[in-house]
Amino acid sequence: MLESGFNTRVEEVMPTQTSARRKRSKINISDTIKVLTELYGPVPEEPRLDPSHELVFTILSQHTSDTNSGRAFTNLMKTFGSLENVAKAPVEDIHSAISGGGLAKIKAPRIKNVLNMILTLNQNSLDLTFLREMPLEEAKSWLKQLPGIGPKSAGIVLSFSLGMPAMAVDTHIHRVSKRLGLIGANISADKAHDILESVVNNDEVYPFHFAIITHGRQVCRAQRPLCSDCVLGDICPSHGFFTKVNRTNTKSKPIDSKISKRQIPHAYPTQETSK
Ligand code: SF4
Repeated sequence: MLESGFNTRVEEVMPTQTSARRKRSKINISDTIKVLTELYGPVPEEPRLDPSHELVFTILSQHTSDTNSGRAFTNLMKTFGSLENVAKAPVEDIHSAISGGGLAKIKAPRIKNVLNMILTLNQNSLDLTFLREMPLEEAKSWLKQLPGIGPKSAGIVLSFSLGMPAMAVDTHIHRVSKRLGLIGANISADKAHDILESVVNNDEVYPFHFAIITHGRQVCRAQRPLCSDCVLGDICPSHGFFTKVNRTNTKSKPIDSKISKRQIPHAYPTQETSK
């Protein structure tokens, strides 16, 4: 729920446009982050894992709840003591240690392969802090050469663990960014990483991540987004569309299943079309 008494509309605080690209969109990303941060609070301070542990944790998080992946990670480290020992362990033993986390059949060999490939590529070391010294694109490419590591997992490691301005686009960020017109309707989550990185200021990537995910979970939900309560309602190009659909949709059919790509409104040019 939105906090009572919070009724600031984004247009009241977003008069400035800082780039040619943003001039073509009604969304000022910096001010949108500011408004959402005021609503949901600042990014919470959380202990960070070192990059190789973050990478293994990220693999365990793929298609799994935070609770289950956390349990699997704890058990993995309790069983083997170090990632070096995990790299040497038989896949069956890794499978047993992470079986509480889901998809262990896929993740156990993936974890072993990733750790061993890092050891091969990095002079027998699992220390990935050298990535921080690389240009962002190079660091992303280095991680994405590892089996099963895509732009989202690479973004999580670089952003969460190493504090680099890498975007990690999950389902909420992908959906909300489309609805706000920051990316085109046909842009995949994988492609969205580079587009969003090009339009969000480096020092705002992490606040953007937290604010948009929280907004996607609490207000701009996949089904029946709460547009009438949304603080971005006045500048969101999808507001009118979803308000209309919400009004007419009295059945239990999920809203998103009724929307074809052609129907999603793009009242303002998107980053895709502006390139
Ligand atoms: S107005 Fe509706 S579609 Fe737009 S961001 Fe808010 S909840 Fe999402």
